[in-house]
Amino acid sequence: MPELPEVEAFRRRIMDGAMGKQIQSARLDGIRVLPESVPDVEASLHGRRVVGSERNGKSLFLALDDGRWLLLHFGMSGEPVFFHDQEPRFTRLAMTFPDCKLAICWQRKLGAVAVLEDFRAYLSAKKRGPDALEAPWDAFREGFHGRRAVKSLLLDQSFVSGVGNLYADEMLYQNGILPQRPASSISEDEVKGLYDSMGSILRLSIQMGTDFSRFPSGMMLNVRHRGSSCPRCRSPWSTSKVGGRTSFFCQHCQR
Ligand SMILES: [Zn+2]
Repeated sequence: MPELPEVEAFRRRIMDGAMGKQIQSARLDGIRVLPESVPDVEASLHGRRVVGSERNGKSLFLALDDGRWLLLHFGMSGEPVFFHDQEPRFTRLAMTFPDCKLAICWQRKLGAVAVLEDFRAYLSAKKRGPDALEAPWDAFREGFHGRRAVKSLLLDQSFVSGVGNLYADEMLYQNGILPQRPASSISEDEVKGLYDSMGSILRLSIQMGTDFSRFPSGMMLNVRHRGSSCPRCRSPWSTSKVGGRTSFFCQHCQR
């Protein structure tokens, strides 16, 4: 499933291929249009120019030259693909530019699109927190209160947007914190550690093209599967449902 690092890579790919270019035509094919959208997505894209982009967590917004925004939700399987002749399979949104075509492909129909008047209003209506790569330290620190499990807090998209299950497990592992611990029990130093890990892990993943096998040894993500063990102490991973998600952790190194 595309997470923040994949969507950031998609954003860069789309900007490399489409920035400043005019959409000569757009075609939707069986993709869900969000109720927040202006009517007639195809007509509202026609003739517009792509002039920038924003990303919040897994939501990508392409700025159009009339001040509106094209929102792309990649869902479980979405991906942008530039092509010339042969349209890729599973194309649900196709846009033609003067020198290339862009397909957004979804194998499963869990993605969605919208043309929005204002992406900030959309994010605020969805109660979306700041993007995990841009979250201000003060806002991050203030979230750590209450009995809620720290893992649930990290996954709460109204706290920070874009920390997925795997990345939360790695953040907790690197800081020796059990996922079940109440948010209020996390010390200031531990909060700082989590904040720094959030940025470094997500940036590393973007840099490595989200290929966990290229991650340095000693991290959880390249060995996070059943039957594998903690790179530090070789204890088998423990697993538990926290906040509805399966969490991996080391009973020995995390407390
Ligand atoms: Zn361990």
